[in-house]
Amino acid sequence: MVIPCFFVIHWYFSFFLQSFFYHRYASHNHFTMSKGAERFFFMCCFLSHGSSFMSPSAYGIMHRLHHIHTDTREDPHSPHNEPNFFKLLYLTRNRYQKIFCADVLINENLKKNLPYWKWLEKMGHNWITRICWILLYITLYIYFATEWWMFLFLPLTITMAAFQGNIINWWAHKFGYANFNLPNTSKNILPIDFIFLGDAYHNNHHKYPGKVKNSHRWFETDLIYHVMNVMHFLRIIRWKNYKSF
Ligand SMILES: [Zn+2]
Ligand SMILES: [Zn+2]
Repeated sequence: MVIPCFFVIHWYFSFFLQSFFYHRYASHNHFTMSKGAERFFFMCCFLSHGSSFMSPSAYGIMHRLHHIHTDTREDPHSPHNEPNFFKLLYLTRNRYQKIFCADVLINENLKKNLPYWKWLEKMGHNWITRICWILLYITLYIYFATEWWMFLFLPLTITMAAFQGNIINWWAHKFGYANFNLPNTSKNILPIDFIFLGDAYHNNHHKYPGKVKNSHRWFETDLIYHVMNVMHFLRIIRWKNYKSF
C-alpha cells in the first residue's frame, strides 16, 4: 500500500503549503517570517508541488484579483463565468501564466509584499524540470504500484497543486453552505473540513479575508490555523495583526 500512503501524504503536504505559504502568507500577509524561513518553505513548495509548481508571487496576485473582483468578469477563476471544471482549470492556468510572464497589466499595489525567489521560480517553471518530476512520479508508480487502480492516482499526483487550487476555486463557489449572506457565490465546502484542513471555509474567508482563523461556528475547525499557532509559539512565524483573531 505504498502508493495510497504516498498519495495521502503528498495530498496533505501539498495542500498545507498551498494554504499556509501561497494563500495565507503570500496572498494575504497574515503573518511574517524571517528570510531564511521564507526560503525554507519556498523550497518545500517546490519539492511538494513538483511538476505542478506555481510561483507564490503570481499566485498571490491572482488570488488578490479574485478577492477584489469575486464573481465578476474580471475574476480570474469564477465558476460563475465558466461552469465547466476542466475548462476553468485551463482558463485559470492561462491567466496565471500571463501574470507570471508579466504579460498583463497589474496594479502596483497588488505586487506589494510578495515572496520572490526568481531562480527557483524560473527553474520550477522550466518544462524540462516539469518533465523530470513527471518521470520521477511514473517511476515511483511503476516500482511500487501493486494493483492497476493505483495508477488512477497518477494524473492527480502530476497536477496536484493546480488540481487542489482549482477545487477550492470551483467547488467553494458552487457547493456547500453559507454562514454569511454575501454578494458572491462563496460557500463553506464541508462543516468538518478534514480534506482541506480549514481552507475550505471559503464563505467565512470571503466575509473576513483579513482574519487568520477561517472557522466561525462551534463545529468548524481550522486545523492549519492551529498548526500556525504552534509555529508562532515556536517563533517560526509571527502573527501580523492580533486584532484579526
Ligand atoms: Zn473565492
Ligand atoms: Zn483568500
